[in-house]
Amino acid sequence: APSSKHEYSIACMGADGIGPEVIGAGVEVLKAMSEASGGAFKFHFEDYDWSSETYKKLGKYIPDGGLDRLKKHDAIFFGAVGAPDVPDHISLWGLRLAICQPLQQYANVRPTKILRGTESPLRNAKTGDLDWVIVRENSEGEYAGQGGRSHQGQPWETATEVSIFTRHCVERLMRFAFEIAQKRERKHITVVTKSNAQRNGMVMWDEVAAQVAKEFPDVEMDKMLVDAMTCRMVLQPKSIDTVVATNLHADILSDLAAALAGSIGIAPTSNLDPTRQHPSMFEPIHGSAFDITGKGVANPVGTFWTAAEMLRWLGEETAADKLMECIEEVCGNGILTRDLGGTANTKEVTEAVCEAVRKSY
Ligand code: ATP
Ligand code: MG
Repeated sequence: APSSKHEYSIACMGADGIGPEVIGAGVEVLKAMSEASGGAFKFHFEDYDWSSETYKKLGKYIPDGGLDRLKKHDAIFFGAVGAPDVPDHISLWGLRLAICQPLQQYANVRPTKILRGTESPLRNAKTGDLDWVIVRENSEGEYAGQGGRSHQGQPWETATEVSIFTRHCVERLMRFAFEIAQKRERKHITVVTKSNAQRNGMVMWDEVAAQVAKEFPDVEMDKMLVDAMTCRMVLQPKSIDTVVATNLHADILSDLAAALAGSIGIAPTSNLDPTRQHPSMFEPIHGSAFDITGKGVANPVGTFWTAAEMLRWLGEETAADKLMECIEEVCGNGILTRDLGGTANTKEVTEAVCEAVRKSY
Protein backbone atom coordinates (compact mmCIF):
# COMPACT_ATOMS: atom_id res chain seq x y z
CA ALA A 1 0.00 0.00 0.00
CA PRO A 2 1.16 3.58 -0.53
CA SER A 3 3.07 4.93 2.47
CA SER A 4 1.12 6.88 5.07
CA LYS A 5 4.04 9.01 6.20
CA HIS A 6 3.49 11.72 3.54
CA GLU A 7 7.25 12.20 3.34
CA TYR A 8 8.96 10.92 0.25
CA SER A 9 12.50 10.36 -0.84
CA ILE A 10 12.78 11.02 -4.57
CA ALA A 11 15.75 10.14 -6.78
CA CYS A 12 16.07 12.81 -9.49
CA MET A 13 17.82 11.71 -12.65
CA GLY A 14 17.60 14.24 -15.46
CA ALA A 15 20.21 12.32 -17.52
CA ASP A 16 20.60 13.57 -21.11
CA GLY A 17 19.64 16.48 -23.37
CA ILE A 18 16.60 18.40 -22.13
CA GLY A 19 16.16 15.81 -19.33
CA PRO A 20 17.87 17.90 -16.62
CA GLU A 21 15.97 21.05 -17.73
CA VAL A 22 12.54 19.47 -17.45
CA ILE A 23 13.32 17.53 -14.26
CA GLY A 24 14.60 20.79 -12.70
CA ALA A 25 11.28 22.41 -13.62
CA GLY A 26 9.38 19.43 -12.21
CA VAL A 27 11.23 19.64 -8.90
CA GLU A 28 10.36 23.35 -8.66
CA VAL A 29 6.68 22.55 -9.10
CA LEU A 30 6.79 19.72 -6.54
CA LYS A 31 8.51 22.03 -4.04
CA ALA A 32 5.84 24.67 -4.65
CA MET A 33 3.14 22.05 -4.04
CA SER A 34 4.67 20.88 -0.78
CA GLU A 35 5.03 24.47 0.42
CA ALA A 36 1.53 25.49 -0.66
CA SER A 37 0.09 22.47 1.15
CA GLY A 38 1.64 23.78 4.35
CA GLY A 39 3.86 20.73 4.56
CA ALA A 40 0.98 18.23 4.29
CA PHE A 41 3.45 16.22 2.23
CA LYS A 42 7.20 16.61 1.87
CA PHE A 43 9.92 15.56 -0.52
CA HIS A 44 13.59 14.83 -0.06
CA PHE A 45 15.24 15.11 -3.45
CA GLU A 46 18.51 13.40 -4.19
CA ASP A 47 20.26 14.13 -7.48
CA TYR A 48 21.84 11.42 -9.57
CA ASP A 49 24.15 12.51 -12.39
CA TRP A 50 24.04 9.22 -14.31
CA SER A 51 23.96 10.05 -18.01
CA SER A 52 25.57 9.48 -21.38
CA GLU A 53 28.29 11.93 -20.24
CA THR A 54 29.25 9.66 -17.35
CA TYR A 55 29.05 6.68 -19.71
CA LYS A 56 31.52 8.31 -22.10
CA LYS A 57 33.92 9.01 -19.22
CA LEU A 58 33.57 5.83 -17.19
CA GLY A 59 32.29 3.24 -19.68
CA LYS A 60 29.10 2.63 -17.70
CA TYR A 61 25.91 4.43 -16.86
CA ILE A 62 25.36 2.99 -13.42
CA PRO A 63 28.26 3.04 -10.96
CA ASP A 64 28.99 0.03 -8.76
CA GLY A 65 26.43 -0.25 -5.99
CA GLY A 66 24.26 2.34 -7.77
CA LEU A 67 21.15 0.18 -7.99
CA ASP A 68 21.20 -0.48 -4.25
CA ARG A 69 21.27 3.26 -3.62
CA LEU A 70 18.33 3.73 -5.96
CA LYS A 71 16.29 1.06 -4.24
CA LYS A 72 16.17 3.12 -1.04
CA HIS A 73 14.00 5.84 -2.58
CA ASP A 74 10.23 5.94 -2.77
CA ALA A 75 10.28 6.91 -6.44
CA ILE A 76 12.58 7.81 -9.32
CA PHE A 77 11.92 11.00 -11.28
CA PHE A 78 13.62 10.43 -14.62
CA GLY A 79 14.31 12.80 -17.54
CA ALA A 80 15.50 11.22 -20.78
CA VAL A 81 18.41 9.14 -21.97
CA GLY A 82 20.08 9.21 -25.37
CA ALA A 83 22.95 11.16 -26.92
CA PRO A 84 23.93 11.77 -30.53
CA ASP A 85 27.31 10.07 -30.08
CA VAL A 86 26.12 6.95 -28.22
CA PRO A 87 24.19 4.27 -30.15
CA ASP A 88 20.55 4.28 -28.97
CA HIS A 89 20.54 0.60 -28.04
CA ILE A 90 23.54 1.19 -25.76
CA SER A 91 22.00 4.12 -23.91
CA LEU A 92 18.57 2.54 -23.62
CA TRP A 93 19.91 -0.74 -22.23
CA GLY A 94 22.63 1.06 -20.26
CA LEU A 95 20.35 3.21 -18.17
CA ARG A 96 16.58 2.99 -18.61
CA LEU A 97 16.23 -0.76 -19.00
CA ALA A 98 19.08 -1.31 -16.53
CA ILE A 99 16.82 0.32 -13.95
CA CYS A 100 13.40 -0.99 -15.06
CA GLN A 101 14.41 -4.64 -15.20
CA PRO A 102 16.12 -5.23 -11.83
CA LEU A 103 13.56 -3.04 -10.06
CA GLN A 104 10.85 -5.21 -11.65
CA GLN A 105 8.92 -2.28 -13.06
CA TYR A 106 6.92 -4.65 -15.20
CA ALA A 107 4.03 -2.35 -16.05
CA ASN A 108 4.44 0.76 -18.12
CA VAL A 109 1.42 3.02 -17.95
CA ARG A 110 0.75 5.89 -20.34
CA PRO A 111 -2.30 8.10 -19.92
CA THR A 112 -3.34 10.21 -22.89
CA LYS A 113 -5.77 13.06 -23.14
CA ILE A 114 -6.18 16.33 -24.95
CA LEU A 115 -5.33 18.95 -22.33
CA ARG A 116 -7.33 22.18 -22.23
CA GLY A 117 -5.82 24.79 -24.54
CA THR A 118 -4.05 22.24 -26.72
CA GLU A 119 -5.03 20.94 -30.12
CA SER A 120 -5.26 17.44 -31.51
CA PRO A 121 -4.35 16.80 -35.16
CA LEU A 122 -7.57 14.76 -35.34
CA ARG A 123 -10.25 16.74 -37.11
CA ASN A 124 -13.02 17.77 -34.67
CA ALA A 125 -11.37 16.16 -31.64
CA LYS A 126 -11.54 18.37 -28.59
CA THR A 127 -10.65 18.24 -24.91
CA GLY A 128 -12.35 15.25 -23.33
CA ASP A 129 -12.80 13.32 -26.58
CA LEU A 130 -9.72 11.27 -26.07
CA ASP A 131 -9.08 9.83 -22.64
CA TRP A 132 -7.01 6.69 -22.75
CA VAL A 133 -4.64 4.69 -20.60
CA ILE A 134 -2.24 2.39 -22.41
CA VAL A 135 -0.72 -0.37 -20.28
CA ARG A 136 2.45 -1.78 -21.75
CA GLU A 137 4.24 -4.99 -20.79
CA ASN A 138 7.62 -3.70 -19.64
CA SER A 139 9.68 -6.76 -18.75
CA GLU A 140 9.84 -9.21 -21.66
CA GLY A 141 8.18 -9.76 -25.03
CA GLU A 142 9.84 -8.41 -28.13
CA TYR A 143 12.36 -6.43 -26.07
CA ALA A 144 13.62 -9.40 -24.08
CA GLY A 145 17.03 -8.96 -25.68
CA GLN A 146 17.18 -12.59 -26.76
CA GLY A 147 18.66 -13.55 -30.09
CA GLY A 148 21.92 -13.26 -31.89
CA ARG A 149 23.77 -12.83 -35.15
CA SER A 150 25.89 -15.20 -37.14
CA HIS A 151 28.11 -14.69 -40.19
CA GLN A 152 28.20 -10.97 -39.48
CA GLY A 153 28.58 -8.82 -42.56
CA GLN A 154 28.23 -11.76 -44.99
CA PRO A 155 25.35 -11.80 -47.46
CA TRP A 156 24.17 -14.96 -45.66
CA GLU A 157 24.21 -13.31 -42.26
CA THR A 158 21.25 -14.22 -40.10
CA ALA A 159 19.97 -12.35 -37.09
CA THR A 160 17.27 -13.47 -34.71
CA GLU A 161 15.31 -11.27 -32.34
CA VAL A 162 13.34 -13.65 -30.19
CA SER A 163 10.22 -12.57 -28.35
CA ILE A 164 9.73 -14.15 -24.96
CA PHE A 165 6.26 -14.44 -23.47
CA THR A 166 5.83 -16.22 -20.17
CA ARG A 167 2.41 -17.00 -18.77
CA HIS A 168 3.50 -15.65 -15.38
CA CYS A 169 4.51 -12.24 -16.78
CA VAL A 170 1.58 -11.90 -19.16
CA GLU A 171 -0.85 -12.83 -16.42
CA ARG A 172 0.49 -10.36 -13.82
CA LEU A 173 0.46 -7.56 -16.39
CA MET A 174 -3.02 -8.46 -17.65
CA ARG A 175 -4.41 -8.48 -14.12
CA PHE A 176 -2.84 -5.09 -13.37
CA ALA A 177 -4.32 -3.65 -16.58
CA PHE A 178 -7.78 -4.97 -15.69
CA GLU A 179 -7.43 -3.39 -12.23
CA ILE A 180 -6.70 -0.04 -13.86
CA ALA A 181 -9.68 -0.44 -16.19
CA GLN A 182 -11.90 -1.35 -13.24
CA LYS A 183 -11.00 1.85 -11.39
CA ARG A 184 -11.90 4.01 -14.36
CA GLU A 185 -15.37 5.29 -15.11
CA ARG A 186 -15.89 3.42 -18.37
CA LYS A 187 -14.58 0.07 -17.07
CA HIS A 188 -13.59 -0.93 -20.58
CA ILE A 189 -10.44 -2.59 -21.80
CA THR A 190 -9.12 -3.41 -25.26
CA VAL A 191 -6.67 -6.29 -25.42
CA VAL A 192 -4.33 -5.80 -28.37
CA THR A 193 -2.39 -8.64 -30.02
CA LYS A 194 -1.39 -9.92 -33.41
CA SER A 195 -2.66 -13.40 -32.83
CA ASN A 196 -3.63 -14.04 -36.44
CA ALA A 197 -0.03 -13.87 -37.64
CA GLN A 198 1.92 -14.72 -34.49
CA ARG A 199 0.52 -18.03 -33.43
CA ASN A 200 2.37 -18.79 -30.19
CA GLY A 201 2.93 -15.94 -27.77
CA MET A 202 0.03 -13.88 -29.06
CA VAL A 203 -2.41 -16.77 -28.84
CA MET A 204 -1.30 -17.26 -25.24
CA TRP A 205 -2.02 -13.56 -24.64
CA ASP A 206 -5.57 -14.08 -25.87
CA GLU A 207 -5.99 -17.09 -23.58
CA VAL A 208 -4.63 -15.24 -20.55
CA ALA A 209 -6.90 -12.27 -21.32
CA ALA A 210 -9.96 -14.53 -21.44
CA GLN A 211 -8.95 -16.13 -18.14
CA VAL A 212 -8.25 -12.86 -16.31
CA ALA A 213 -11.44 -11.29 -17.71
CA LYS A 214 -13.44 -13.83 -15.67
CA GLU A 215 -12.01 -12.30 -12.47
CA PHE A 216 -13.37 -8.89 -13.52
CA PRO A 217 -16.99 -9.43 -14.51
CA ASP A 218 -17.67 -5.68 -14.26
CA VAL A 219 -15.00 -4.82 -16.84
CA GLU A 220 -16.02 -4.97 -20.46
CA MET A 221 -13.32 -6.38 -22.74
CA ASP A 222 -12.82 -6.31 -26.46
CA LYS A 223 -9.96 -7.59 -28.58
CA MET A 224 -8.17 -5.95 -31.45
CA LEU A 225 -5.31 -6.78 -33.77
CA VAL A 226 -2.62 -4.14 -33.48
CA ASP A 227 -2.86 -3.01 -37.11
CA ALA A 228 -6.61 -2.50 -36.84
CA MET A 229 -6.06 -0.75 -33.51
CA THR A 230 -4.06 2.06 -35.15
CA CYS A 231 -7.07 2.76 -37.41
CA ARG A 232 -9.47 2.66 -34.50
CA MET A 233 -7.38 5.15 -32.52
CA VAL A 234 -7.61 7.61 -35.39
CA LEU A 235 -11.15 6.91 -36.59
CA GLN A 236 -13.06 6.03 -33.40
CA PRO A 237 -11.03 7.54 -30.55
CA LYS A 238 -14.04 7.80 -28.26
CA SER A 239 -14.59 4.04 -28.36
CA ILE A 240 -11.32 3.42 -26.49
CA ASP A 241 -10.61 3.60 -22.76
CA THR A 242 -7.94 1.28 -21.31
CA VAL A 243 -5.61 -0.60 -23.66
CA VAL A 244 -3.26 -3.45 -22.81
CA ALA A 245 -0.57 -4.61 -25.21
CA THR A 246 2.89 -6.12 -25.51
CA ASN A 247 6.15 -4.25 -25.07
CA LEU A 248 6.57 -3.53 -28.80
CA HIS A 249 2.92 -2.99 -29.72
CA ALA A 250 2.23 -0.65 -26.81
CA ASP A 251 5.45 1.24 -27.48
CA ILE A 252 4.20 2.08 -30.96
CA LEU A 253 0.57 2.67 -29.99
CA SER A 254 1.56 5.04 -27.19
CA ASP A 255 3.64 7.22 -29.50
CA LEU A 256 0.64 7.40 -31.82
CA ALA A 257 -1.49 8.28 -28.80
CA ALA A 258 0.88 11.10 -27.80
CA ALA A 259 0.82 12.53 -31.30
CA LEU A 260 -2.99 12.35 -31.45
CA ALA A 261 -3.13 14.22 -28.15
CA GLY A 262 -1.21 17.11 -29.68
CA SER A 263 2.48 16.88 -28.75
CA ILE A 264 5.11 14.48 -27.57
CA GLY A 265 6.04 17.21 -25.08
CA ILE A 266 3.02 16.77 -22.81
CA ALA A 267 2.66 13.09 -22.04
CA PRO A 268 3.94 11.13 -19.02
CA THR A 269 4.80 7.51 -18.49
CA SER A 270 5.13 5.44 -15.34
CA ASN A 271 7.29 2.34 -14.99
CA LEU A 272 5.59 0.59 -12.12
CA ASP A 273 6.38 -2.26 -9.83
CA PRO A 274 2.77 -3.05 -8.88
CA THR A 275 4.00 -5.18 -5.95
CA ARG A 276 5.59 -2.01 -4.50
CA GLN A 277 8.66 -3.94 -3.41
CA HIS A 278 10.82 -1.55 -5.43
CA PRO A 279 10.54 2.14 -6.26
CA SER A 280 8.72 2.93 -9.49
CA MET A 281 10.11 5.28 -12.11
CA PHE A 282 8.28 8.23 -13.64
CA GLU A 283 9.34 10.04 -16.81
CA PRO A 284 7.98 12.19 -19.61
CA ILE A 285 7.62 10.12 -22.79
CA HIS A 286 9.74 12.44 -24.91
CA GLY A 287 13.44 11.80 -25.50
CA SER A 288 16.52 13.90 -24.96
CA ALA A 289 15.73 16.25 -27.89
CA PHE A 290 19.24 17.59 -28.47
CA ASP A 291 17.95 20.00 -31.13
CA ILE A 292 16.46 22.19 -28.39
CA THR A 293 18.78 21.34 -25.48
CA GLY A 294 20.13 24.32 -23.55
CA LYS A 295 17.77 26.78 -25.24
CA GLY A 296 15.31 26.95 -22.38
CA VAL A 297 12.35 26.18 -24.64
CA ALA A 298 11.60 22.55 -23.74
CA ASN A 299 7.99 21.93 -22.86
CA PRO A 300 7.93 21.00 -19.16
CA VAL A 301 4.25 19.96 -19.19
CA GLY A 302 5.07 16.28 -19.81
CA THR A 303 7.25 16.35 -16.71
CA PHE A 304 4.59 18.14 -14.65
CA TRP A 305 2.02 15.54 -15.65
CA THR A 306 4.67 12.93 -14.78
CA ALA A 307 4.99 14.53 -11.34
CA ALA A 308 1.22 14.26 -10.92
CA GLU A 309 1.33 10.55 -11.82
CA MET A 310 4.14 10.09 -9.28
CA LEU A 311 2.08 11.83 -6.58
CA ARG A 312 -0.85 9.57 -7.40
CA TRP A 313 1.26 6.42 -7.10
CA LEU A 314 2.68 7.64 -3.77
CA GLY A 315 -0.88 7.97 -2.49
CA GLU A 316 -1.24 11.76 -2.74
CA GLU A 317 -4.36 11.59 -4.91
CA THR A 318 -5.73 15.00 -3.97
CA ALA A 319 -2.43 16.71 -4.72
CA ALA A 320 -2.22 14.84 -8.04
CA ASP A 321 -5.69 16.05 -9.09
CA LYS A 322 -4.83 19.58 -8.01
CA LEU A 323 -1.62 19.60 -10.03
CA MET A 324 -3.43 18.33 -13.14
CA GLU A 325 -6.00 21.08 -12.72
CA CYS A 326 -3.21 23.70 -12.44
CA ILE A 327 -1.47 22.35 -15.57
CA GLU A 328 -4.71 22.52 -17.54
CA GLU A 329 -5.47 25.99 -16.22
CA VAL A 330 -2.08 27.27 -17.45
CA CYS A 331 -2.43 25.55 -20.84
CA GLY A 332 -6.01 26.79 -21.08
CA ASN A 333 -4.73 30.35 -20.51
CA GLY A 334 -2.55 29.99 -23.60
CA ILE A 335 0.76 29.82 -21.74
CA LEU A 336 2.24 27.27 -24.12
CA THR A 337 5.68 26.39 -25.45
CA ARG A 338 6.53 26.44 -29.15
CA ASP A 339 5.77 22.76 -29.76
CA LEU A 340 2.16 23.57 -28.81
CA GLY A 341 2.07 26.67 -30.99
CA GLY A 342 2.79 29.14 -28.19
CA THR A 343 5.69 31.47 -27.44
CA ALA A 344 6.39 30.77 -23.75
CA ASN A 345 9.68 29.27 -22.60
CA THR A 346 10.27 26.56 -20.01
CA LYS A 347 10.71 29.05 -17.19
CA GLU A 348 7.53 30.97 -17.96
CA VAL A 349 5.40 27.83 -18.05
CA THR A 350 7.02 26.60 -14.83
CA GLU A 351 6.40 29.88 -13.02
CA ALA A 352 2.81 29.98 -14.22
CA VAL A 353 2.17 26.46 -12.91
CA CYS A 354 3.86 27.27 -9.56
CA GLU A 355 1.69 30.38 -9.27
CA ALA A 356 -1.47 28.38 -10.03
CA VAL A 357 -0.40 25.83 -7.42
CA ARG A 358 0.04 28.54 -4.75
CA LYS A 359 -3.44 29.92 -5.55
CA SER A 360 -5.05 26.49 -5.47
CA TYR A 361 -4.38 25.85 -1.76
P1 ATP B 1 14.80 9.66 -28.33
O1 ATP B 1 15.84 9.19 -29.29
O2 ATP B 1 15.09 9.31 -26.91
O3 ATP B 1 13.41 9.34 -28.76
P2 ATP B 1 14.85 12.29 -29.49
O4 ATP B 1 16.01 13.19 -29.33
O5 ATP B 1 14.57 11.62 -30.78
O6 ATP B 1 14.91 11.26 -28.30
P3 ATP B 1 12.11 12.86 -29.02
O7 ATP B 1 11.69 13.01 -27.66
O8 ATP B 1 11.77 11.60 -29.68
O9 ATP B 1 13.64 13.21 -29.12
O10 ATP B 1 11.48 14.11 -29.74
C1 ATP B 1 11.52 14.36 -31.12
C2 ATP B 1 11.46 15.86 -31.31
O11 ATP B 1 10.31 16.41 -30.67
C3 ATP B 1 12.65 16.54 -30.62
O12 ATP B 1 13.75 16.56 -31.45
C4 ATP B 1 12.09 17.90 -30.30
O13 ATP B 1 12.21 18.79 -31.38
C5 ATP B 1 10.62 17.64 -30.03
N1 ATP B 1 10.39 17.53 -28.57
C6 ATP B 1 10.49 16.44 -27.81
N2 ATP B 1 10.25 16.70 -26.52
C7 ATP B 1 9.97 18.02 -26.45
C8 ATP B 1 9.63 18.90 -25.38
N3 ATP B 1 9.53 18.50 -24.11
N4 ATP B 1 9.42 20.19 -25.70
C9 ATP B 1 9.51 20.62 -26.95
N5 ATP B 1 9.81 19.84 -28.00
C10 ATP B 1 10.04 18.55 -27.76
MG1 MG C 1 12.74 9.87 -30.81
